[in-house]
Amino acid sequence: MNKLGMHAFVWTAGWTHNDCAHAIAKTAEVGFDIIEASTLDLDAMDVPYTQQQLEKAGIGITFSFGLDAETDISANDREKEKRGEVRLLKALGLARDLGASHICGILESAFQKYTVPTTAEGVKRSVEVLQRVGEVAARNNIVVGLEVVNRYESNVLNTASQAVEMCKRIGSSHVKAHLDVYHMNIEESDIGQAIIATGDYLGYFHTGDSHRGYMGSGSIDLAGVFRALVKANYQGPITFESFSSRVVGQPLQGILGIWRNLWEDSQDLASHALMYTKAQLKAAHEAEKQAERSRLP
Ligand code: MN
Repeated sequence: MNKLGMHAFVWTAGWTHNDCAHAIAKTAEVGFDIIEASTLDLDAMDVPYTQQQLEKAGIGITFSFGLDAETDISANDREKEKRGEVRLLKALGLARDLGASHICGILESAFQKYTVPTTAEGVKRSVEVLQRVGEVAARNNIVVGLEVVNRYESNVLNTASQAVEMCKRIGSSHVKAHLDVYHMNIEESDIGQAIIATGDYLGYFHTGDSHRGYMGSGSIDLAGVFRALVKANYQGPITFESFSSRVVGQPLQGILGIWRNLWEDSQDLASHALMYTKAQLKAAHEAEKQAERSRLP
């Protein structure tokens, strides 16, 4: 069974004690299995306090973040690679301490708009760092999801097939592709086919819609997306990610171009996302049974 998760930014953009307690309690109250904590500042996280809140609420946690220009492991710059590797290992340490099953996000490059394409040497360096990170991840049984994002947020992984190729080069059982419907809607020719082709390399999944607002209120064929996830026999986490200027401020607002309110009420958005995801998954599983239900007597 897929664990269903909620991105913490639906509740709050920070991780102070108040933010942490509120986001975890609300995620559990709505009925999700996990919260995806997204922190650009890993040092700001109080591990024992976070652990206490998770235990109290009875839910799990995953982490998402992106590397930045100074920690870009695809830059073909030894100093940046070193800093990037330290950051990735630090995130794995946090994940281990909090019992997180996954870390994910733009971990293969910086999370930024590039002005030039990536290079073969840059990809090779990123692969080498992620091979070492993958060894630590495997020892701790944590999956590292490399997020495939649109061209304005990275120049390394923009399509699912690039992520599969990257994972093959890395060759770690614990480094996988992290796909996101919002980005796939921009870059893929066929979202469902890309999910199915990713198959066992799929390790993490973000749902949402074309404008990152309420699921089903945008233009993505979400029924097709969930059917593809079921066909691919994907068992990993499915987390809802949505941004509104009501919660998210700078610097993320600027990087992601969050200019308008796609929603006002976090609780209503979260409840709807859980209901919608459960309904879509149920429908997709039932659709898979059609062949066996259609035999002639
Ligand atoms: Mn995402």
